[in-house]
Amino acid sequence: MNLNELTLGSFRNYEALNLSFDPGVNLIVGDNAQGKTNLLESIFYLGSGKSFRAQKNSELVRFGSDFCDIEGKIFSQEREQTLRWILFKGSRPRQLYRNGAKKKTAGEISGVLPTVLFCPEDLMVLKTGASQRRRMGDYVLCQLRPNYDAALTEYHRILDQKSRILKEHFENPRILEILPEFNQRLCQVGALLISYRARFYESLGQSAAKFHSQFSGGSEEFTLEYHTDSGIRDPFAPISELTQDLLEHLQQRYRAELETGQCLVGPQKDDFEVSLSGVNLKSYGSQGQTRTAAISLKLAQRELMGREFGEEPVLLLDDVLSELDPGRQDFVLNQIVSGQVFITCCEPGRFTKLGKTIEIRSGHLAAPEGNDL
Ligand code: ATP
Ligand code: MG
Repeated sequence: MNLNELTLGSFRNYEALNLSFDPGVNLIVGDNAQGKTNLLESIFYLGSGKSFRAQKNSELVRFGSDFCDIEGKIFSQEREQTLRWILFKGSRPRQLYRNGAKKKTAGEISGVLPTVLFCPEDLMVLKTGASQRRRMGDYVLCQLRPNYDAALTEYHRILDQKSRILKEHFENPRILEILPEFNQRLCQVGALLISYRARFYESLGQSAAKFHSQFSGGSEEFTLEYHTDSGIRDPFAPISELTQDLLEHLQQRYRAELETGQCLVGPQKDDFEVSLSGVNLKSYGSQGQTRTAAISLKLAQRELMGREFGEEPVLLLDDVLSELDPGRQDFVLNQIVSGQVFITCCEPGRFTKLGKTIEIRSGHLAAPEGNDL
């Protein structure tokens, strides 16, 4: 699939922008703070309805504007398609159009423009906190499985409500009467998340192991292990069994949850761990090993999506190539033999030969379009 054309109105530092792209490599160059990452963010949002860095949609609206507009012409699923998002500053709900028809959820555009983002922070994701790893996994899984996306939103909504109950019960004990209802629902939806994640991480680990083996010349064996709530005996068990495990664990932790006022049971703290030839990467991995494993994980995400949708997802490389040594750069570039790629960098250097170059200056196109190098 390809993003052929992108039109932005009042998005981040772009007042109005219209760009057409190469079906292969697009190099986005410019000094710091000119809008390179913003451009990738708009492409990521166009396909997924999510930002990889904003907490709220309103952050994406240009300062001083009331709404922003992201529109793309895409060749996907063997035909021309258009996607359009309109996001508002206040509480007004965002709008989504696919081929001119209004849609309710991002799930309805699943597979039209799947993207995989790779940025410098991802290189250290196997060393940092669990929340970043969860976020990374969730981005992919949400695009792959719209039902997972819906379940995840629902889970966080219930979790927020339950947290409020657990905080309020100190002053208002009667509120605990509604707790069992929330627990029941939390465990049902939580079980669904665990079931999806177990399968997803299994496939991700297998694919990443293959890339890592090529990368390390077969000298290291990459393994990925998914960790979830300690009450779960087998994350691959049927949903009903997972729900039961969570409910039983909740019963054991009931007092502790009341005393601490915190939700202590469920997949909200899920994590995964990577080992190289049996040695835990988080504790013992060198910086080089950590980076190589992270690259393998990213290529695996791309492969999984490609397999699912039957087309290569669009790859967004934000400043990541310049962070890598030439050997790792070549490995990544050699893996991207097909599909569309957007690469941002401040100094194009050796990458300029790759495809179309687009220069961005203060939210505008610096050079006339079509200056393919
Ligand atoms: P770097 O090379 O440092 O990564 P960049 O080209 O990727 O830079 P961006 O992250 O895209 O830069 O940001 C460019 C500018 O966009 C920043 O100066 C930021 O202040 C501005 N910006 C971010 N959000 C908005 C907004 N909602 N309205 C207007 N400007 C914004
Ligand atoms: Mg940037």
